[in-house]
Amino acid sequence: MKYKGIIPFSGGIDSTAALYLTLTENPDKHYLVFKVNLINGENGSRTVKEEQAVIAILDELRRMGIQNFTYRRLSYDYSQLGPPPIWDSEAVNFAAATCVRAYPEIEEFVEGAIGDDYLQEGFQDRLDQIEKVLYLVSERTAEDLRIVFPLKDMMKYEVMKSMPDNILKLTWSCRYPEGADMWQLKRCHKCATCKTIDRVLQHHPGEFDY
Ligand SMILES: [Zn+2]
Repeated sequence: MKYKGIIPFSGGIDSTAALYLTLTENPDKHYLVFKVNLINGENGSRTVKEEQAVIAILDELRRMGIQNFTYRRLSYDYSQLGPPPIWDSEAVNFAAATCVRAYPEIEEFVEGAIGDDYLQEGFQDRLDQIEKVLYLVSERTAEDLRIVFPLKDMMKYEVMKSMPDNILKLTWSCRYPEGADMWQLKRCHKCATCKTIDRVLQHHPGEFDY
C-alpha cells in the first residue's frame, strides 16, 4: 500500500475534521492515520478519552464506507521527566517525521490548525517550530513533503459543520476531563478548547448534537 500523506489524529474536533475532509475529498488516495499517545504525567484521563474517541471515530468512518486509510498508533511515556519538557505538537511531529522516513512515498503532511488558532499570540511561532522539527527529523524539504492545512480558513463553527453529526459527537477535545457520575468523564467547560466550543454551541442553539 502506497500512502499519499500522513494525518496525525488525536480524536479532537479539529484533527477529526482534517481527517474527514482529506479522506472524503481524495477517495482514490490512501492515507496513513497516525495517533501518538503521549504519556507525560499531565492528564491521564484526557489520554483515555482521546484514545476512546480515536477508535470510535475510525470505526464509524469504516462503517460509513470511508476506508482509504491505515491506522497506526505509537505510545511514548516520558512521565519520568517531570512536567512536559516540550509541547505535545513537537512530540507528535517528531514521531510523525520518523514515520515519514519509513514511507518515502509520503508527500503530504496534513495539519489540523484552524482559523481560531492563528488569532492566538505566538501560534505562528509554534507552527514554525513544529515545521522545523518535521523537516529536520524527516530529512525532507518543503519540495518533497508538503504541509497542507485544510482547515486554516475555517473558524470553529465551520469546522464543526464540516463533518456529519454522528462523527462530531464521537470527538473529544477537552484538555482536563472531570469525573462525573458512574465513573464517566465529562468536559470541564473551563479549558480554552471547551470555551471555544461552548461559545459556538451558545451562538448556534440546537444546531449541533454535541
Ligand atoms: Zn475542557
